[in-house]
Order: sequence, then C-alpha cells, then structure tokens
Amino acid sequence: MPRETVAEKAVRFISQERVRFQVLTPEYALATVHGDTNDYETGYKRGRWYCSCMNATESCSHIRAARMIFRAIIGAIQKGETTDGNTDGSL
Ligand SMILES: [Zn+2]
Repeated sequence: MPRETVAEKAVRFISQERVRFQVLTPEYALATVHGDTNDYETGYKRGRWYCSCMNATESCSHIRAARMIFRAIIGAIQKGETTDGNTDGSL
C-alpha cells in the first residue's frame, strides 16, 4: 500500500472527526487536531496558519485538515447558509 499523502491524511482526520474547533471566525480560528501520535494546536490568525507540530508549515496535515473545514464553514457563512436562517452575516 502506498504511503499516505499529506492531503489524504488531512481528509482522514476530518472523516474520523479528529479536528475540534474551539474558535472559528473569518479572522481567527483555533483547533485541536488529534494526530496519529499527538494532539496539535492549529490555528489561523492575521491571515496565516500555524501548527504546534514539529514540521509546522502551511502544508502539514493538521493545518490542511483544519483549513478544509474552515474554508467550507466560512464559505457557507458568507453565502448565508446558516441553519437558523440568519443571513445578516453575523456569527
Ligand atoms: Zn501540524
């Protein structure tokens, strides 16, 4: 079996519900990602992503997983697709 790519790993983290957001706004986000060996703090601040893992870059699997969820949710909010019918853009 070929080695799992970073992108595949990120998708696996999401499908296994291993990404937990404590904060999720368009300007600022903070998540805990339950990785294969440890939990990592991943966040978004002032337009940049960061991660507490050793190879923290914008392309580590933890950031990728958090960013996929972030983009999906923020995108939905910006389109007004909130479940309670609140379309004024507030969180
Ligand atoms: Zn990481």
